[in-house]
Parts: sequence; C-alpha cells; structure tokens
Amino acid sequence: MTRRERILTELGLTPLWLHRRRLDDPGATLESPPHATSHAALPQHRTAHEVRTVEVMDWAEMREAAATCTSCVLHEKRKQAVLGVGDEKADWLFVGEGPGAEEDMRGEPFVGQAGKLLDNMLSAIGLKRGNNVYIANVVKCRPPGNRNPAPEETLACQPFLDRQIALLQPRLVVALGKVAANTLLARGGTLGSMRKTVHDYRGIPLIVTYHPAYLLRTLTDKAKAWEDLCFAVETMSGLSSAARNVD
Ligand code: URA
Repeated sequence: MTRRERILTELGLTPLWLHRRRLDDPGATLESPPHATSHAALPQHRTAHEVRTVEVMDWAEMREAAATCTSCVLHEKRKQAVLGVGDEKADWLFVGEGPGAEEDMRGEPFVGQAGKLLDNMLSAIGLKRGNNVYIANVVKCRPPGNRNPAPEETLACQPFLDRQIALLQPRLVVALGKVAANTLLARGGTLGSMRKTVHDYRGIPLIVTYHPAYLLRTLTDKAKAWEDLCFAVETMSGLSSAARNVD
C-alpha cells in the first residue's frame, strides 16, 4: 500500500473506485458510495464503465471533475472550483495555496491583491501569466475565511495537482509558500529551510519561495523573494543549456 493509500484509508476516504457491484452493472446509476472520493469523474451521462480517475484524465475531463468534486468539505461553500490558468505547454509552473474570495468569484487563480503581486513578480523576471506560465493551487476550492487548507483537504485535492503536473510536464515548478512546498515535497519544514535548493518533484526541479500574500504583509522579505526568483531563472537557464548540450 502506498503512503497516499495508507493515509486515505486512515481518513476513511477509500475506496477510490466505485463498488464492484456497480461497475459490473453497465446501466447502474452513478451515485457515490459512502466514503468514495469523487476523484472519479461522475458526469451523469456516463455509465459506470466509463468512470475514470483523475490520474488518467485529460484537461477537459479534469475541469469537469473539479467543478463537480465533493471530495472534501471545501465544496460546500465554493462558488466554483478554480483548477488553474495558463499555457498548458508551459515551462514554468507556479503553485499557490488555494483560491481566495476573488478567485472563487472569477474562477481564476491569483486575481486578487496577491495575484497582482504575483503578476509583478512574473514580470520582473520577464514572464507573463498565460505565456509559457501556468498557475495552479494546491486546493481548487476556497478555504472559507482564507484559512489554510486542512491536511485532509490538500490530500483529497492532490490528485488534481499531480495530474496537472503530469500533463504539463513543466521544466520548473515554483512553490509559492509553505503549504505548496510541503504538499509537493511531501514533507514538513519551514519555508526558510526549503529556499535556495533545487528540490525534486517526480523528476521535475522544484524551488520554493514566499507566498505573495505573505509578502504583502511582510515587505522586508521581498528582497529574499527577489533572490529566489533570480535563483529560479538561473536554474531554468541551467536546464536549458543542459538540454542544448544533450541535443
Ligand atoms: N492565494 C493563493 O494561494 N492562491 C490564489 O489563487 C489566490 C491567493
């Protein structure tokens, strides 16, 4: 049993698939069994044989699955799920924590005050939202009151982020803040201890910097965030020249 399966079991979030009895009945009505995660997309027009888990979905299927996901309590208060935005062939992936009120309303990550700062950070290193850049969050539904997502919420949502990264295959992931870093690296630790290192997320280089919302409150750390962005650019150019040398 993998670590993820063990944790899901402990949280009572298994099984991931519908009960076999339903799968064996092609005409079965698709209702979630007790404790089934809705990571399996269950659009009403589909029969049980067509149920797919997030791990094998394409972008369109994932958008549909996120919009109807009820895997954790965050679905109860969301206006809409916010899957991500940008270039689906991007070299750069920026990962935040979860949508806030503005994002929940508009259906796009980082469109509030923190988003304006993120856009400025991107522009400072010659990047632009949507242009070789994809932006996503750890959780796709708004944690009420802008609280941090709970561990069971990040865990329940993680298949979406994992699948987004598998489809994108970015050259570099930038984790914005501790929640994103801890989730993607599957470890605890302070943000400070994770900066200035090229980590590995399933074979993709990952670096860690401060969350823009934190920087709005802590102006004195903006200089450190700038160092991290320069480090990210250096890392990316290292990757580009390494790829050229291989070619
Ligand atoms: N903070 C985040 O982490 N993500 C958003 O989309 C907005 C604010």
